[in-house]
Amino acid sequence: MKPDIKTKELSLKGLVASPGIAIGKCFSHHADGYTINRIEIPKTQVEAEIARLKHALELAVSDLEQIRGEADRTVGPQLSKIFEAQLLILEDAEFFRQVADDIARQHLNAEYVYHRHLQQTLKSLRNSRDSYLRDMAHDINATAAKVFSHLVGGRSNKLVDNKHRIALAEDFSPGEVVLMNKYHIPGFATQLGGPTSHMVLIAKSLAIPGVVGVGNLLRKCPDDAMVIIDGDNGLVIVNPTTKTLAHYREEHRRHRGVTSRQLKSIARLPSTTTDGRGIAVMVNLEIPSDLDQTLAACKIGVGLYRTEFFYLSTMAFPSEEEQTKQYHDIARTFFPNQVVMRTFDLGSDKIVGDLRNTDEVNPALGWRGIRLDLDIPDIFKAQLRALLKASEFRNVRIMLPMVSAMSEVNRTKKLIHAAMVELQSEGVVFDEDIEIGIMIEVPSAAIMAHELAKHVDFLSIGTNDLIQYTLAVDRGNKRVTSLYRQFHPAVLRLIKMTIEAGAANEIDVSMCGEMAGNRLALPLLVGMGLTTFSVAPTRVPEVKKIIASLSYEECRQLAEKVMTIPTADRVEAALQEWCATHVGQIGMED
Ligand code: PEP
Ligand code: MG
Repeated sequence: MKPDIKTKELSLKGLVASPGIAIGKCFSHHADGYTINRIEIPKTQVEAEIARLKHALELAVSDLEQIRGEADRTVGPQLSKIFEAQLLILEDAEFFRQVADDIARQHLNAEYVYHRHLQQTLKSLRNSRDSYLRDMAHDINATAAKVFSHLVGGRSNKLVDNKHRIALAEDFSPGEVVLMNKYHIPGFATQLGGPTSHMVLIAKSLAIPGVVGVGNLLRKCPDDAMVIIDGDNGLVIVNPTTKTLAHYREEHRRHRGVTSRQLKSIARLPSTTTDGRGIAVMVNLEIPSDLDQTLAACKIGVGLYRTEFFYLSTMAFPSEEEQTKQYHDIARTFFPNQVVMRTFDLGSDKIVGDLRNTDEVNPALGWRGIRLDLDIPDIFKAQLRALLKASEFRNVRIMLPMVSAMSEVNRTKKLIHAAMVELQSEGVVFDEDIEIGIMIEVPSAAIMAHELAKHVDFLSIGTNDLIQYTLAVDRGNKRVTSLYRQFHPAVLRLIKMTIEAGAANEIDVSMCGEMAGNRLALPLLVGMGLTTFSVAPTRVPEVKKIIASLSYEECRQLAEKVMTIPTADRVEAALQEWCATHVGQIGMED
């Protein structure tokens, strides 16, 4: 008998974009499913044709304005600025003039000429080595789809017709992701697209799981097939077996977006192990959200505030005043809990738009993090001044990203000192004893942690990058994903060295990389002596419950044993086995 290919489980690899799990039947969203014909028009119709294009552009602008209103409400004004850039594209007078001139000169229909001009622009953007420009091509393409739908009679909005189903497409626009939230689309996958595109930023902030860059997605994933989106591992699983489904249902239950009620119910849990060791669980935040008040009320602080998202949402550095307001609001919301604000961590996978140095062959090893900050001293100083101004409640800490050498710490401290002197002379109140810490995410920093610890107030382990740099495995490259191993003994040794360096120098050590929220890693990290975990808000309930169920002494013995194991596979197997008997099933009630 021939195997039934249609029902065989198929795992498609893409790029990690927006975390979480979604399970359901899928549909393909053909946003650009219209046909553009070349039609010659009589000279007498030229004016009407140009007016038709103008009208279509106006309608597309009005559609986009509505989506921007929805985005304002759901993702907040900061991210919704993304739509301003798209509106500029639709309202680009020079582009319109060139298309109108060609319609008039060549006597051709509007959609054909508009499409031709658009393809020329997109071609050069798509060929660019700059990922920001390539991402921009996606936005422009999706925005233009709106114009075509008005010119050639668009399709019905397939998102609204497919509520609760997983959306697949060549690509989605940021606006479509806003609509996914409105129409309860649980997850998405795309054939094109990059993990740092605008639509991914919006998906992340709306907690819609998604995978991008899945080759052959639309060919291999027929409409109505059962699909699992594994946003954490960049996988799309088509026609999953009963066993795979059961596994992912359990994962899904674990990952579900956290609600205020769930958070409140765990707030009472002790922040200690069963044998009384105090462990702090904090959150990683990117942009202000509705949950902030609840998190603060649950006495949860912020272990990592990624300030670069302020820049990434608009591709422009916010002014000192804008930053002061935002940082101040966050510090006030979370007071008296601590907020660790990381200075701009731009570059490499965090697109830098105009700042991008396009001749970087190896951007991950290039101009990023603190290196970039120090090279733009005026902008950096403005951020440091804003952070200091926000520190008046004395609950703000400043953290430096991607530190690889002591000189970076010293240079930043000098800038902070200069900013303090200025603020003093201006009579501004700030925390004169503000604590300054560093991320440990480069092997050289972990190896030198003992020395670095003498010059800073705290260390925070960023495993997302530490794994990439230790193992020489690009965190965004799907070809080498299987080599990106958090339990690689080399990674574990660097983590241990960092924790020990902090303890020896009596400064705090926390972890804010994804590993801090991994259920297998938790007992090991507690056993290694880690006492502060900063995780995504959705992970707080489970992490707190697991920690409250652990015995430090047993974890310590586990860590001792694990540190002698020479391979990642065997470490993982040992942790699986240990957790099966010690951690059990930890549920998350609504
Ligand atoms: C990390 O590298 O672990 C980290 C927290 O930083 P980011 O993921 O923002 O690079
Ligand atoms: Mg990092």
